[in-house]
Formats: sequence, structure tokens, C-alpha cells
Amino acid sequence: MPVKPLPFGKAQAQQIAAQYPTPFYLYDAAGIRRCVRALHQAFAWNKGYKEYFAVKALPNPAILRLLKEEGCGVDCASYTELLLAERLDLVGDAIMFSSNDTPAEEFAYARRLGAIVNLDDISHIEYLERHGGLPGAICCRYNPGAFSLDRNAIMGDLHDSKFGMTYDQLIEAMRILKAKGVQRFGLHAMLISCALDEGYYAALAEKMFLLALDIREQTGVTVSFIDLSGGIGIPYRPHEAPVDIARVGKAVRAVYERLVAPAGLEISLFSELGRFITGPYGYLVSTVLHEKHTHKDYIGLDATACNLMRPAIYGAYHHITALGKEDAPCTHTYDVTGSLCENNDKFAVDRMLPRLEAGDIVAIHDAGAHGYSMGYNYNGKLRCAELLLEEDGSVTLIRRAETPADYFATLDTSGLFGDLK
Ligand SMILES: *Cc1c(COP(=O)(O)O)cnc(C)c1O
Repeated sequence: MPVKPLPFGKAQAQQIAAQYPTPFYLYDAAGIRRCVRALHQAFAWNKGYKEYFAVKALPNPAILRLLKEEGCGVDCASYTELLLAERLDLVGDAIMFSSNDTPAEEFAYARRLGAIVNLDDISHIEYLERHGGLPGAICCRYNPGAFSLDRNAIMGDLHDSKFGMTYDQLIEAMRILKAKGVQRFGLHAMLISCALDEGYYAALAEKMFLLALDIREQTGVTVSFIDLSGGIGIPYRPHEAPVDIARVGKAVRAVYERLVAPAGLEISLFSELGRFITGPYGYLVSTVLHEKHTHKDYIGLDATACNLMRPAIYGAYHHITALGKEDAPCTHTYDVTGSLCENNDKFAVDRMLPRLEAGDIVAIHDAGAHGYSMGYNYNGKLRCAELLLEEDGSVTLIRRAETPADYFATLDTSGLFGDLK
């Protein structure tokens, strides 16, 4: 079996499971800190660089607190994400509010918190004016319609992407915002998701720097920050190489020195990485309940797509390690399933694994971003616990598992469920 290393082994997983029954998420604090530090190091050359962690990737306050300690802000896109930020005392410039199709009360809340507002559409200028008012610092989201990475000519067609403004709208938006007295202007674009191509950020930066120069020429507006957003990928498959963030930082710097510095501009760079920061450092740990042999061989886990839906909705690959069998030969081909009444409830299809049996504990890798947070309650399945593996090796419960009482809490229970714990 191609190996992906784990920061814990079978004995520790069993020990944890004795206290917190599987399934659970386990996040590796040391791994997350290492990753953020490398990111900050890579962009240390840029004055004002800031990472706004995309809250939707892993909206747990313990994780956000850890990231805050490392100097990160937060990228929010909803009322509750803003609330989470406020309660952690992440306010003002520590929030990038990158929303779309935004409800009035969310704009108003973002304004009360003093967040930097990233406008997804030109019509939102007037809407924001009516619901909270225009802030001193504002950012506009760009959708170029198409995007290609020179190196291997990946073409992204963005014509059916709902995000951002066209070039003409963006220029017009800058003119309007300037006329309305906005002081600090930024640009934002996210053109790819999960890019393993190390050239992505540099190609995007080049596009955005040229856009900033165009804007200055056409409107007199000086862009002072550019948000390269999220989209840097992680190696879900064991043969894939991780993105070398130091090289990414260097490549962006080269573009900056070619285009921005000679134009006499000073532009702070921001990122809104989610997956890159926490993805590889989260594991869904689950126990084998059953093996079943019919037209295929099935391994049934106690986790379901409700805990991790990426394989079910994207056909995403998530590596699976059978704890204690790391070195065993992969002699068996299994579909690894959950218990939902849905045939797409499979964590892996035709996966070569060591022989598995009931009671084995498995770790599903790279579940630290867009994992727990995409969870749902289909079939009445309850959300599992989240645990933090601290740097000293101890484990902290950072979110308890749901109980039936949580599941029924939003009903008018009048007598039916009032006694539930
Ligand atoms: C989802 C999202 C991100 C984070 O994306 P990752 O793939 O996790 O890096 C950042 N910014 C915006 C606006 C997003 O929608």
C-alpha cells in the first residue's frame, strides 16, 4: 500500500476511541502550525501579507484560535461565520467578508464588525450602501471569464462561474467607489480550486497586477491590496507531491518585482487558503463494523457520507490507512462504505487494501478541510466529535458528538422528545 504517514498509531487511536467512540475527527495541531509558519515565511517579503483562513473549511473555534495565535485573520461568508469571528475577537481588518448573493443583515453585520468587504457584484455597491454603508476599505471580486496556466495550459472556463464581476464591471465599480469616497481599494479572484500546479498563484498574481495597473490608468484608483484567495491544492493521492509553498512565494515575488515595483506601486497580498492549511492535518477515524461479500467485497464503517461527503459528491479520493496494518500487503479490493440508504455512500471504490475485518480502525486522510463542515444529517445520522491532537501528544475534545436531542432540537417537541438527553 502506498504510505501516507500518520501522526498517531493504532495504540493511540484505540486509547482515544475508548474515551470518544468512533467515528471522530482528529486534527493535528503541530501540522497545522507548521503549515501556517511555512506560508508566512514564503510571503514574508511582502509588506502587509496576511492569510485570512477560509472559515468554511474548518469552522471550529479551537482551530481558529490556534490560527489567530499564528497571526491569521478569517475569511467569512455568512452570519454565523462572522459571529464565530466576533466571539474570538477577530474583528476589523482581521476579517475578510468574501460572500456572494449576500443577505442584507450579513452586510450590516460585517460593517458593524469593521470587516474588509469583498464585493461579488457591481450591484452590491448600492445594496451595501443601503445595508450597513460603504466602508473605508473595499475589495472587488474579478471573474475574467477564462483562465489558463501557461505551464501546462489548463484552461478554466469561468463563464458559468457565479462569482465575481466582468472586467468592464470591475472598472466601473472602481470609478463609482472612488466617487463615493472609498479610501482603500483591493482586488480579489479565485479561479481554480485544489490546484496542485505550483504556478497557479504566480499566474493569478500576474493577471491581478496587470489589472491593478489598468485600473490606475483608467480610473486613477490605486489598488493597495490583492487577495489571491484560496485554491492551492493538497495531494490527496499518495503519489502526488505537495505544493512547495516557498517556491510559490518566490514565483509570486518575481512577478511582483517585474510588474508592481517598477510601476511605483506597493501592494499587500492576502490569501484565503482553507484546504492547504488544515486539509492534510485532519483525519476521520472510523471502525469497521461489517464485511460483506456479494457481487463485490464491502467493508462497512461506522462513519458515513454524513461525516465526510467529498467522495460521495465529487468522487474525491481520500486515502485510507488501516491502523496496525500499515505494512501489510494490499491483497484485497474493497468498496469501503457507510450505512446510509444511498449507494453513493462509499469512501472508496475498488480500493486495494490489506485484509480488513470487523473491529479494525481506519484513518481516512486529508479530511481536515471541507470535511466535518460539509456534514449533514441524512438518515438521521448524527454529526461526530472533533478532537485536537495537541503538540504534547494529548487529545482535547473540541466539539462533542451530536445526540438524538440535538437532532430533534429544532422541532416543536411538545411532549414527544422533551425527555431526550
Ligand atoms: C472556499 C473559498 C476559499 C477557500 O478555498 P480552499 O480551496 O479551501 O483554499 C477561499 N475564498 C473563498 C471566497 C472561497 O469561497
